[in-house]
Amino acid sequence: MTQDNRTAEIANFVTHLECSKTGDILPAGTVQNLSPTGAPILVRYDLAAVAETLTKEKLAARPTDLWRYRELLPVVSAANIVSLGEDMTPLITLDNSLGSNVIVKDEGRLPTGSFKARGLVMAVSMAKELGLKRLAMPTNGNAGAAMAAYARRAGMEAFVFCPDDTPEVNVREIALQGGKIWRVNGLINDCGKIVADGEAEMGWFNLSTLKEPYRIEGKKTMGLELAEQFGWSLPDVIFYPTGGGTGLIGMWKAFAELKAIGWLQGPMPRMVAVQAEGCAPIVKAWEAGEEHAPLWPDAHTVAAGIRVPVAVGDFLIIRAVRESGGFCMAVDDDAIIATRDAVAREDGLLLCPEGAATVEAYRRALAQGLVGAEEKVVLFNCATGLKYPMAPVTRTIARGQAPDYAAMT
Ligand SMILES: *Cc1c(COP(=O)(O)O)cnc(C)c1O
Repeated sequence: MTQDNRTAEIANFVTHLECSKTGDILPAGTVQNLSPTGAPILVRYDLAAVAETLTKEKLAARPTDLWRYRELLPVVSAANIVSLGEDMTPLITLDNSLGSNVIVKDEGRLPTGSFKARGLVMAVSMAKELGLKRLAMPTNGNAGAAMAAYARRAGMEAFVFCPDDTPEVNVREIALQGGKIWRVNGLINDCGKIVADGEAEMGWFNLSTLKEPYRIEGKKTMGLELAEQFGWSLPDVIFYPTGGGTGLIGMWKAFAELKAIGWLQGPMPRMVAVQAEGCAPIVKAWEAGEEHAPLWPDAHTVAAGIRVPVAVGDFLIIRAVRESGGFCMAVDDDAIIATRDAVAREDGLLLCPEGAATVEAYRRALAQGLVGAEEKVVLFNCATGLKYPMAPVTRTIARGQAPDYAAMT
């Protein structure tokens, strides 16, 4: 019998933490938020030792959750793993609407219904390992839900602040999962300020996007999983709906680590950061040839998960896109919803608006010749479509009256 990835003691290969801007080294096993220069912190591993220890055969024999990649993850002791069952997510082709070269990685199947579970299961497990008890974050909904769920499981407090127009289902699931939540009449950066200003007084550990080192490591598993699902090769292009950019940065880090241990050869995929026209700071900075993206004023989009007006990891997103030979693209809300509806109707797959944004961006990129029809493309659907508003249904049948069957279409 194979041992469970979550209960087996597996060797840990973390060597140190590193400032993503200066390369300055910080010790592993210490509580960290941003680096002293105010940049995100990255976890570094002894990849030569990983290459000697981990084999593809060993990996193939393990259960199929994200803890199968333990040698490339930061948690030291199995006892600190706080899990709700983070199983590998499927790859689904959009045969009817776009053909078999276009594959959706459906992250809506994860605990709490979004890929935020990947980042937060890692960050909360590390918080447990480091002895932290009170966690706080700003959220557009999905991150707060994942933090609340894992924090309660670990017996920690979760303080959550969200914009007051956050989808109702998110606010309620956070409260139901034991999160202490407040609505703020502002955007996610306004909520972030409340967390930052309250840290000292409230004794909070700040779990904001990229403001602690471990959510990236959790999101990195999307890249590890994708490589394994593609037989240790990669698709030609990856479209990613980009808010804070944790996933895009994390996947790029995953590919670099897999290359370093000799498991990936050949060209890396082109990374495409997709944003909404009502909130596209990264696209704007990219088009201007800049590395930093100033705050986007009056941010608005139906795709709440990518309504992020300012990102502390802006330069990491833009560098990954540039190094990969990819590009950035914004799409409008009307097209996002029309696409969400069309994919559900034609392929039976209910995407979240953020996921639908990648489908629309793919279509436009294809039309502009930025992507070839023969190329293998992966689009990320980041949350279950069930969390979002859908069009009402008005057709009725009166009980007892003979239905007009012939008119049913
Ligand atoms: C958070 C979120 C995103 C953006 O992810 P980042 O990695 O933070 O850029 C996209 N879609 C959904 C549904 C999200 O919840």
